[in-house]
Amino acid sequence: MLEEQLKKVIRDIPDFPQPGIVFKDITPILKDQMLCKEIVREFERHLEGVKLDAIAGIESRGFLFGMMLANQLDVPFVPIRKQGKLPFKTISESYKLEYGQATIEIHEDAFEAGKNILIHDDLLATGGTVVAASKLIEKLGGNIVGYSFVISLDFLQSHGRLTRFSDNIVSLVH
Ligand code: 5GP
Repeated sequence: MLEEQLKKVIRDIPDFPQPGIVFKDITPILKDQMLCKEIVREFERHLEGVKLDAIAGIESRGFLFGMMLANQLDVPFVPIRKQGKLPFKTISESYKLEYGQATIEIHEDAFEAGKNILIHDDLLATGGTVVAASKLIEKLGGNIVGYSFVISLDFLQSHGRLTRFSDNIVSLVH
């Protein structure tokens, strides 16, 4: 089963990036191209029947499978990046972190209003990042048709923060 395979390769890194945090390291997945293909196929299966026009991936690990999936589904990929990284005109959204705040941005011409957008990231924790990304998509007139994550930290119970945008939430590892 894919979930079991992924659990075997995802590494727990204690005290990264700060003391007290156990970081889920997905880089070992990238060493196995067959596993990468299987991840994309599994997302594709979950998304069967969903009409989507583009995938928005969140910097930086959301670019990995977000781009692969967009390519597989033959739709455009839209990068959502940290403040100051996108070169053209942007709109931005700030959100609270445990300490301080973060800002993410999207190009104002990333897609046309009315398009169906799937938001992808590697991992769902508190949901703060993906809620901010959802607000960016909605500001541009996009219609959020779902979310895909490689990992979801279910004990943080953040699915509820996303359902007001879309209840189509796919996570491969729980
Ligand atoms: P949230 O905003 O949901 O609290 O955090 C999710 C964001 O932080 C994602 O963009 C994700 O890449 C990153 N993140 C937080 N914790 C981890 C982790 O343990 N492993 C990985 N790979 N990413 C994490």
